Formats: sequence, C-alpha cells, structure tokens
Amino acid sequence: MTTRPPPAVGTTTLRSSLTPGTLPPPSGDSVTVIGHPLVQHKLTLLRQKERSTSSFRTLLAEISMLLVYEVTRDLPLVYQEIETPLAPMRSPVIDGKKVVLLNILRAGTGMVEGMLRILPSARVGQIGLYRDPKTLGAIEYYYKIPGEMSGRDVIVVDPMLATGNSAVAAVDRVKTAAPRSIKFVCILAAPEGLANLREAHPNVAVYTAAIDERLDEHGYIIPGLGDAGDRLFGTK
Ligand code: URA
Repeated sequence: MTTRPPPAVGTTTLRSSLTPGTLPPPSGDSVTVIGHPLVQHKLTLLRQKERSTSSFRTLLAEISMLLVYEVTRDLPLVYQEIETPLAPMRSPVIDGKKVVLLNILRAGTGMVEGMLRILPSARVGQIGLYRDPKTLGAIEYYYKIPGEMSGRDVIVVDPMLATGNSAVAAVDRVKTAAPRSIKFVCILAAPEGLANLREAHPNVAVYTAAIDERLDEHGYIIPGLGDAGDRLFGTK
C-alpha cells in the first residue's frame, strides 16, 4: 500500500479554490470538500471500475448520508418544551419548514435515497435535464417541486459536477421559487464545473467529496467514476 500526498480534502473549507492543492483567494463564498476518512474510503471503492451495480448503489447512498450530515450542520435550531419519562425539559429541534432535496435526474436519485435516511421528512423535488451532446448545454424536460418554497432550505443533488451546466440550470430554476437558502451537493466536482457554477451562483455553497483533475472532450470527469447514472442503474 502506498502513502500518497494528501488530496484537497481534510476537514477543510476551500474558499474559491478551483484546483486541487492551490491556495484560494479570500472570498465570502465556499466550496467544502468533505474529507472525512469514511467518505474518502467509500469514494475510492465507488470509483473502482469492477464495482457491481448493487455495491455502487449502496456506496453512493452511504456517502450521501455522510455528506448530508455535514451539509445540514448549520441548520437553525429552536428550543421546544418536551417531557422525557422522568422530567420536562427544553430541547432543540430544527427550525422552519422541511428541507427540500432537489434531485437532478437521473443520477441524483441514488444520492437522494441515502439522504432521506438521515432526513426522512425532507420534501423531494425533481428536475430532469439532459445534455445536448453537441453544446453540452442543459435542456429541461421535467420539473416538480413543493408548491410553497418560501422559508425552505434547498439542497440540490447530482453526483457529478462536470461542466456545471445542469447545476447552473437547476439552481436558476429553483431560485425563481425564492427558497430561504440553496446549497449544491455532489460526489465529484471538476474545476470547470465549479468555476461555472460559482460564476453563475456565487452565493450557493458547494459541497463535494473530491475535486478531480479535469473534464475530457466528452464532458466526463477525469479520473472520475464513469457515468454515474449508468453505474447506478446498471444501464451499461
Ligand atoms: N456525468 C457523469 O455521470 N459522469 C461524468 O464524468 C460526467 C458527467
């Protein structure tokens, strides 16, 4: 087993750092790389090409559970009067309306499944976007979110932040519903996608398990993990 230099992870908030290992300029917005050893270990397993569909699904859900734990760290709390079997007390609960997970179809589905284990009451919105194979631009074919979005926190999920076009389109769309906050969570991000998303939506905090090297000419993340949707659903 080899020991490699630490990647752009750790319990680190990388502010505006788009390239692994570079020092970011100071800025008010952030990309958080979740460097927890469990996340990093599971991500390595997820990347392996010989991994079965079933194991890929399980790992994607497990990593998503761990990511959402970090992503929800700053949710506001309020105190509630309750009674334990022994005594009354004031105890904290999450304030406000239920969180909305916005699933970028189709690969986001595997992440939503894991996140719902931690946030079982979350509402789930869906946005369908396909990539124009020539321009790589995002074209919407489906959109459904809860009717009342004011005061809600939205977590947009897609395993792969590649060109960033889908992420930008999804955030554009949900912003029109004026939620209280929007965050974006992925498993892997390419520097190009991060730059695109953060230029379009600098106030949207991004959470990822890793920032990879680059995109290839087809818009795939290198080294990446291949096509997340195909690996999740076993369609290739
Ligand atoms: N979508 C994927 O599923 N994989 C990539 O590498 C890029 C976009």
